[in-house]
Parts: sequence; C-alpha cells; structure tokens
Amino acid sequence: MTDIKSMTLEELKELMESIGEKAFRAKQIYGWLHQHFAVSYDEMANIPKSLKKKLEDYPITALEMLDVQISKIDGTRKYLFRLNDGNTIESVLMRYRHGNSVCISSQAGCRMGCRFCASTIGGLARNLLPSEMLDQIYRIQESTGERISNVVVMGSGEPLDNYDNLLRFIRLLTEEGGLHLSQRNLTVSTCGLVPQLYDLAEEKLQMTLAVSLHASNDEKRRELMPIAKKYSIDELLKACRNYFEKTGRRITFEYSLVAGVNDSREDALELAGLLKGLNCHVNLIPVNPVRERSFVRSTREAVENFKINLEKCGINGTIRREMGSDIDGACGQLRKRYMEKTESEK
Ligand code: SAH
Repeated sequence: MTDIKSMTLEELKELMESIGEKAFRAKQIYGWLHQHFAVSYDEMANIPKSLKKKLEDYPITALEMLDVQISKIDGTRKYLFRLNDGNTIESVLMRYRHGNSVCISSQAGCRMGCRFCASTIGGLARNLLPSEMLDQIYRIQESTGERISNVVVMGSGEPLDNYDNLLRFIRLLTEEGGLHLSQRNLTVSTCGLVPQLYDLAEEKLQMTLAVSLHASNDEKRRELMPIAKKYSIDELLKACRNYFEKTGRRITFEYSLVAGVNDSREDALELAGLLKGLNCHVNLIPVNPVRERSFVRSTREAVENFKINLEKCGINGTIRREMGSDIDGACGQLRKRYMEKTESEK
C-alpha cells in the first residue's frame, strides 16, 4: 500500500503521471492533504470524479481523536488518538504567549526502557508513519482552529529509532505546499543514538536538537537509561560536538531531576564539567512521578540550587515550566490508562 499522505510533492507528481494524470493535480491534492487536512477525496472540490475513482487505491491516513483532556490551570490539552490498526498514541497542545506548541509521538510505545518513563513500560508497538506524525498536528490545529507555531518531537517513542520516517516527516512539515513550518520552530528530542546523530548532522537541518542526558556520569546514567550501556557519555558528547560543528545549532540537554539520585551539588558540578566549552543549554525538568515507578521528584529548592550551581560554572539552565499538571502526570500515562481500561473490558 502506498501511503499518499507520506509522499512528497515530487513523488505525488510521479504518481499522477503513472496513472495518466497531469502533474498539476499533484499540487492540488498535496494542498488538500497538507493545508486543508482533508481526510477523504470527497472533500477535494476541484478534483474530477474520474481521478477520485483512481485514487480509491490510495487510502488517506487519518487519526481518530478518542479523548481530549483540558487543563483548567493553563489550557494545556492532552489528546489520545487511534491509529488505523487500533494502536493508540498521545499528543499534547501547550499554549504559550509566543504561540501554540504541539508535542507529538514518533512511535507507539518505545523500546528504550528509560527507568522513569511511562511510554516504555509496554515496549514498542510500532513505528509511526510520517503521515501519522503529521496528522497529530493537523487534527489538533483543525480541532482548535488555531495555528500551530512550534512542534516538539518529545512525546512517546525515540525519534531516531524511526529515523527514515522522522526525516520524511520533517521534510513534509517544513517544505512549501504544506504547513511550511520553519525548521527553527521544530525540536527533536533523543535519548542519544550515537550513529544516527552522526547521520543527522549530515542533513544540516536548522531544527533544535535536544539530547536527554539525565546524569553526569556513565554509572548513574546506566541506572536510569539502558541506552547508556551501549554508548558512553564521552561518545555521546563527541557526537553532539560534531552535530554543532556541522549545523551551527546550539544543543539543548534535558536533565530530569530525581530526588536523591541526580540532583546534588556534586551532580551539578560534574555536569558542568562535562558540558564545559560546548555551545549548549540545559533544560531542568523535575521528574514526573509515574505510578509504576518509585522515583520521587526533586524539591523546588533542589532544582533551583542545581540551576544556580550550573550557572556558577558558566552553564545556562532553564527550569521547565510545568504545564497541565492537573490533567495527569508523565508522558505515556494517558495511553497506558486507556490500554489498561480496554484490556479489563475484554
Ligand atoms: N525518546 C526521546 C523523546 C521522548 S521523551 C528522548 O529520550 O529524548 C522526552 C523527554 O521526557 C526525555 O528527556 C525523557 O527522558 C523525558 N521524560 C520521560 N519520562 C519522564 C518523567 N517521568 N519525568 C520527567 N521527564 C521524563
């Protein structure tokens, strides 16, 4: 099956030619899919019946919205979507003064096994198609009627574990003819797959790369993130330096603070030592408690002290503002609850 919504404009032109149609039809259809968010060919008013008939062999991938939770505190919305094959994923809309940001999933589930993360508990179900990554944004923009100005690939899944689909998604999202989002308004977050980081550097994209570090030495990182058994912090930071050299883009490091595990003054100083000389920024995230795990979030004071200690060493840090804390905790929990519910109803 050809997933028409994952095709570039060029590929769509080739498809039109192969079925005996004029190339300009490709642009019309592309616009319907990626600007008008059409979910059926019936909606495409300027497409002749004869072509619609031919296109029946190319079903349009679209997500079904199963649930929305709206935060009473800050208007953050958490969406649960159903994929064609029954898998579910979640996405989040965050409203900031500077615009609307959507956090999307790149996989259904995840196989990275980070100890504090709910998305990984049931393992990986499957990779998402480019169209399925896009449609999270399309459905949210359509349902709110508000433009999405920023996209972060920080939901469930490891984007670099779904590398080819991620790159295609980025092209479709940022090239002309679709949403045409600036690459600078896109952030991709990774747990640090080193070979893929070298490949990505060669793409010379202008997006922001966020790397989940969460610890300042290999021993601690291995306890939190199984991927650290495969690549050392040294190897990871070398790949990050290369990424900066190739793209000129400052890297963001994510650091989730867990009480008594990685939030001490020594941890901060060790982290500052690691990052010295690297053009980067540290995002400090008080860990979100996950029901199945026993991690406790650092106190507000510990988080602030951590930031101060980093800054004393010349490393900039930001404490991530908590959004939608009333609609539930960590990433992956809405999906997980839904799966438990449907399981128990069987
Ligand atoms: N796989 C990618 C992107 C998805 S997770 C990655 O690892 O970066 C997005 C961020 O949320 C990561 O930094 C991840 O480590 C963090 N995260 C996951 N669960 C969390 C939790 N319970 N509390 C705080 N941060 C969490």
